Amino acid sequence: MKLDTKHMRYLSAEDWRTLTAVETGSKNHEVVPTALIGQISGLRGGVHKSISALAKVGLIARMRNAKYDGYRLTYGGLDYLALNTYRKRKDVYSVGNQIGVGKESDIFVVADGKGVQRVLKIHRLGRISFRTVKANRDYLRNRSSGSWMYMSRLAALKEYTFMTALRENGFPVPEPLAQSRHTIVMSLIDAFPMRQISSVPDPASLYAELISMILRLAQYGLIHGDFNEFNILIKEDSSPTKKVEDIILTPILIDFPQMVSVDHANAEYYFDRDVNCIKRFFERRFRYTSDAKGPYFKDARKLIGKDGVQRLDVSVAASGFSKKMAKELEAYMKEMGVDGDGDPNAARGDEESDEDEEDDEEGEEDVDDEPSNIEPVVEDASATNGRTKSNDQG
Ligand code: ADP
Ligand code: MG
Repeated sequence: MKLDTKHMRYLSAEDWRTLTAVETGSKNHEVVPTALIGQISGLRGGVHKSISALAKVGLIARMRNAKYDGYRLTYGGLDYLALNTYRKRKDVYSVGNQIGVGKESDIFVVADGKGVQRVLKIHRLGRISFRTVKANRDYLRNRSSGSWMYMSRLAALKEYTFMTALRENGFPVPEPLAQSRHTIVMSLIDAFPMRQISSVPDPASLYAELISMILRLAQYGLIHGDFNEFNILIKEDSSPTKKVEDIILTPILIDFPQMVSVDHANAEYYFDRDVNCIKRFFERRFRYTSDAKGPYFKDARKLIGKDGVQRLDVSVAASGFSKKMAKELEAYMKEMGVDGDGDPNAARGDEESDEDEEDDEEGEEDVDDEPSNIEPVVEDASATNGRTKSNDQG
């Protein structure tokens, strides 16, 4: 889904208040009655003008078939509310290119007021692939339409909370910068997903580094759950010798909404799947097979809490992402068939088949690779206009 910010600067203060009122009203109403919008916004009769302005640009949608006249927030409306929060807090000044389209998220390059590029990840959990629509139709009928919004918020909150905890404990992950509603802002990693790397000088050492990251996660009580070539970005730093074979490759881990505790009922399954994703990818892409068997979950379990490290699966619950939230999100993701980038049944545009992976090195087809058209969130965009795509940052 595109993120069209062009209407943002034309919204009046009353329009924003009205939009916020629809959001507040959605917490208890699937369709927010017009009268309630007037009441919450404090604009009363004056709210109608704003309602039509918001509906006209698709930030709220009229529900005609409901028992009463009312509106619901659209994804576009929720996007605007999040962006407005970032704008006020000076976390985001302008929005640029879309650099990723996942099944359940959209990724954009944004910039702060100084022109420093960042990444905005928008979770869109209600967006289901056509393959799963039928299976989920009955389920969706029994849910309030607000659930996509709530679940996308949970996914963003979970991702932000885990990214923060991992970063604080020295894991190579992007720097979490801000969170609002169904979105997060993080530092831009100047790197490509491993999926797009055709060869590396020393597969054995990169493999060892990735396996040790899986084990180190277990030491801290965690399993990534989607540890694969899409979610590992490979940073290339030239070495002092300037020789190609000496380039230093640093893997950066991203994408955390599906992380689980080592105490999860299916922990062993997720652990093995993470390990096997890496093994399989290294065999196919780099023709590298490790001599060592494993690692196995029973060995990883012995590392939990080793050297007195904090168990992050426990501490995240205390820092805002509760066990109840974790359960709700997991149940929803399971019902919706959300199983990460490595899901063999995933309906991704860039999904490779076993045989012809070499033909498809370009990676994500939907990615906008043109020079950036950075759209200002506020009126004066002079500071960021003309900046270019994500990989230009040095
Ligand atoms: P999804 O949940 O849709 O898989 P990801 O978090 O894995 O979303 O991001 C999708 C893609 O966007 C990644 O494969 C990567 O190419 C890009 N991306 C995400 N976060 C960053 C970042 N912080 N820096 C650079 N690129 C990123
Ligand atoms: Mg991903």
